[in-house]
Amino acid sequence: MIKYLDLQCINARHEPHLTEAVQRVVASGRYLHGPEVKAFETAFADRCGGGYCVGVANGLDALTLILLSLKEMHGWDDGDEVIVPAMTFFATGLAVVRAGLHPVFCDVDPTTYLMDIQNAEQKINLHTRVLLPVHLYGSMANMSELDELARRYGLHIVEDAAQAHGASDSEGNHPGQMSIAAAFSFYPGKNLGAMGDGGAVVTWDENLAEIVRRFANYGAEEKYVHQCFGINSRLDEVQASVLNVKLPHLDAENALRRHQAALYAKHIRESALTLPYGGEVPDGSVFHIYPLLVPCPETMQKQLLEMGVETLRHYPLPLHHQPAFENVWNGEIYPMSEYIAAHELSLPIGPHLTDDEIVRVAESVVHAYRETI
Ligand SMILES: *Cc1c(COP(=O)(O)O)cnc(C)c1O
Repeated sequence: MIKYLDLQCINARHEPHLTEAVQRVVASGRYLHGPEVKAFETAFADRCGGGYCVGVANGLDALTLILLSLKEMHGWDDGDEVIVPAMTFFATGLAVVRAGLHPVFCDVDPTTYLMDIQNAEQKINLHTRVLLPVHLYGSMANMSELDELARRYGLHIVEDAAQAHGASDSEGNHPGQMSIAAAFSFYPGKNLGAMGDGGAVVTWDENLAEIVRRFANYGAEEKYVHQCFGINSRLDEVQASVLNVKLPHLDAENALRRHQAALYAKHIRESALTLPYGGEVPDGSVFHIYPLLVPCPETMQKQLLEMGVETLRHYPLPLHHQPAFENVWNGEIYPMSEYIAAHELSLPIGPHLTDDEIVRVAESVVHAYRETI
């Protein structure tokens, strides 16, 4: 069986260093607010191209904390608006609601699958405060274009970089460099994954970094003095020690994913199957997911499973069709998001796979498609 994801295999590549790092933390007696988190924050900010990094408990909190902090800094009202692509993981929209703001959905671009900038512009009104692009599948939105739009309307950009560790856009910008802040997740299956939950905020704004840190620590700047009703959201020492071991290998693992994406493009020769990004491997894209578009993904998923290939779908329901957003959605339609939801099939990709396995998956995909016609 070719597994979609194999965390045991992915993490075994970093042994014995992972076990040593965790044992060091166990022996240290220091589990929160310690040297591992501090070292990781410094190294990760560095890898993003500079600025401040605040470790938090998960990606959802990272996004929520950025939005809550901006809301406090600028005195935004409850219900002020944040524009979010309809095709993303649920957490992107949930963070907006958790921050007491209102998500307004927009469609995604047919070639990049990322926020459609023209469509986003149509959603801007006097209540709009934030553009929230998602670097979906590990491919980064064009930050210069977003920056131009944000400046024109006096908006902030907050990046959902939960799938884009180490990514850059076509001009070489990393997440957190061209926006007010970027949110990362270190969920185990992400390109940089912990052994449990973890997240981070990256920003060049010192004031924002301080407010996020305070909000994430019960609203306290000094112990037992609470400025506001914050939350408890911290990256812990065990998770940070794991991330410190894995971060130096991120670029090599991302390069391997790009190589695998190129192999897929070379071996999936079937015009009815739509390769992501026109079969190209865009500069700076880190292929957290390899999103193939196929006529009938459920059927193909079953066929592939019978051939010993596990796949997933990201995501079968766009945000506006999530039951939780029933009363948030204004009834607009987002054709490209619907199209991706109806046709996307994620092929296995990542450091647990060999070139031979990638080729076998590609051949199985083509074979499965030909069987159905
Ligand atoms: C994983 C993910 C999140 C949430 O991260 P968690 O650490 O699971 O809270 C948010 N947005 C996107 C696009 C994600 O893929």
